[in-house]
Amino acid sequence: MALHKGTRGRRDREERPEISINPLYGEANPVSGMTGKPPRRRLPDEPMAATTAYQFVHDELMLDGNARQNLATFVTTWMEPQAGKLMSDCRDKNMIDKDEYPRTAELERRCVVMLAHLWHAPDPDTVVGCSTTGSSEACMLAGMAFKRRWAQRNPVSYPATARPNLIMGTNVQVCWEKFCNFWEVEARQVPMEGNRFHLDPQAAAELCDENTIGVVTILGSTFDGSYEPVAEVCRALDDLQERTGLDIPVHVDGASGAMIAPFLDQDLVWDFQLPRVASINTSGHKYGLVYPGVGWALWRTSDALPEDLVFRVDYLGGDMPTFSLNFSRPGAQVAAQYYTFVRLGREGFRAVQQNTRDVARSLAERIEAFGDFTMLSRGDELPVFAFTTAEGVGTFDVYDVSRRLRERGWLVPAYTFPPNREDLSVLRVVCRNGFSEDLADLFLNDLESLLPELRSQPAPLGKVVKAFHH
Ligand SMILES: *Cc1c(COP(=O)(O)O)cnc(C)c1O
Repeated sequence: MALHKGTRGRRDREERPEISINPLYGEANPVSGMTGKPPRRRLPDEPMAATTAYQFVHDELMLDGNARQNLATFVTTWMEPQAGKLMSDCRDKNMIDKDEYPRTAELERRCVVMLAHLWHAPDPDTVVGCSTTGSSEACMLAGMAFKRRWAQRNPVSYPATARPNLIMGTNVQVCWEKFCNFWEVEARQVPMEGNRFHLDPQAAAELCDENTIGVVTILGSTFDGSYEPVAEVCRALDDLQERTGLDIPVHVDGASGAMIAPFLDQDLVWDFQLPRVASINTSGHKYGLVYPGVGWALWRTSDALPEDLVFRVDYLGGDMPTFSLNFSRPGAQVAAQYYTFVRLGREGFRAVQQNTRDVARSLAERIEAFGDFTMLSRGDELPVFAFTTAEGVGTFDVYDVSRRLRERGWLVPAYTFPPNREDLSVLRVVCRNGFSEDLADLFLNDLESLLPELRSQPAPLGKVVKAFHH
């Protein structure tokens, strides 16, 4: 979470130290009466009425953006009322408490087995997997399994001399940089090159050595929504093994794509069908269609997850094995994931994801038709596309477009690509379930109506939004 350092340096530090309470609520506050002004940033001395507290917290949150107009996030912003009801039914369930809530634990197990079938695990009944708070935790766990397997193969040199490394493209999501930083693994990144915006199989294989714990491939890239060539990466690593004997496992970061490809790209081979794929993660709260925070991590077989990383604690009764960074975690998201699986089934998922892809493709096509933009992707892999200003457009840049769209409530991030394409600044649109054809039309109208002014600007106004975090 944001690491907050007191109140210094905040933009709005001049705000009043006290909360102002509408006198209308005064009668509800028996202690401080109608004129009471509880402090904003210190724990108030006295309680206040629930209705009053609710109203002003609610009012402040009203100024957050409208989640449905947020085209930056991959995370679910709309679920059916029934799913919302189920989640509020389960909000007191703690996921770790598997002995107290055995049915929640059972739903988690069923979700793992369903995903194992979906991702073609060789034996879904013996697959190993767990729910997590999201893909970031899932990726940490997968990375730790890689590191431990490598350490077990190198008992003499590690930790004395050898430094483990992990191979990835520069387009990885920040969780992989975190993993490498936190667990002291060298991140060996393959740069982008020309119009290749993700991992190159040959370049990945060339970076491997005896201290490589694994290769991360992404389905699909957060930068432009493209799928990385998982099968080609595996083939390049097969060749490497033939030449050198190095046997390097692959992890597929399917945060988004592992819930798209199985329904829309059935001919694409990217999952456990490839023997080199040791583990896969996905975000249940992205195209798994559940509100934040749930993710999933699965290992092909129990061999891929060293037993000594698994903890058994009996504080809560029972001794269910767990693999996680957190201890307590809400169980509601897991119940909601199971609900979504049984509610939609394969055919329902296919229809929902196809609709989202159709919206993305058609939107990309119509934006391209304006003539002001060059598309880097078109929503035909993840329902996500990135675009930049066309060559010859000199009066505005992507940051201007992002800023102006914000005036209409649309959040479309503008950001710079990683090495070696830092010269490229793009806009990215993430289409999700709930961003309907109708909303896409409204978005397009807003974009179109901004263009005349942007075209008549004297020059781009410059980069105001400095950094965008994927
Ligand atoms: C979103 C994303 C992550 C991080 O997932 P969270 O569920 O937000 O923790 C990791 N990898 C990729 C490719 C992503 O798109």
